[in-house]
Amino acid sequence: MSHTGSSGGQPGPQRTTDRAATLSEPTRAYAELVAGNRRFVDGAPRHPNQDAGHRAAVADGQHPFAVIVGCSDSRLAAEIIFDRGLGDLFVVRTAGHTAGPEVLGSVEYAVTVLGTPLVVVLGHDSCGAVQAARESAATGTAPSGHLRAVVDAVLPSLRRAEAEGVDDIDGIVDIHIAQTVETLLGQSPVLADEVALGRCAVVGVSYRLSAGAVRPVAAVPAGFAMLENPAGSPESTDPAAATTV
Ligand SMILES: [Zn+2]
Repeated sequence: MSHTGSSGGQPGPQRTTDRAATLSEPTRAYAELVAGNRRFVDGAPRHPNQDAGHRAAVADGQHPFAVIVGCSDSRLAAEIIFDRGLGDLFVVRTAGHTAGPEVLGSVEYAVTVLGTPLVVVLGHDSCGAVQAARESAATGTAPSGHLRAVVDAVLPSLRRAEAEGVDDIDGIVDIHIAQTVETLLGQSPVLADEVALGRCAVVGVSYRLSAGAVRPVAAVPAGFAMLENPAGSPESTDPAAATTV
């Protein structure tokens, strides 16, 4: 993995040339994502692992270091916002990062078959799926077609937000991200077991469309995301703090 240790851009424990030691456990996987997002925010992406040589090198097998369960929003392309390349991220995207059986099965495949040590739920501000669910709940009307399944999957997050007295859209998005983390773990005993054994962690992060930065809003085990965020707070909604994640 030439992006680590070769160009000297990363401090501390990431300065190693041993791929397994660098990326095979949750903390270092999360640090890789945070570092890539920082490069993207700073306008200094390296576009690692996107060259023809790497394409050929990974053709025989994949060992992604993170699963991304993200919203399908066109502005939320995982490899771009985390500055990664081929073979790095196992990406599952649905509108509003709703997590039905196929999503759960895909996550379980990555975690158990591919040995991926980190699952990231990736939501964002101004999420259209959350807004659609909010409008549906407000008007008492359900959308037509299969869009209803998306709205129905978001409604529990709206009820939770209401119970907690949260009514701004971005606050609701944060709750929906946390709810999705809980859904993954609650609906997938396979994933929950991997987390209990310390082989995997699940983090929910919120992305700001304009700034390009992510900040953690939920993590299992609790406090996990703080490991690589000494200057920030997972609960903070301050955009300035988001850039320090
Ligand atoms: Zn969205």
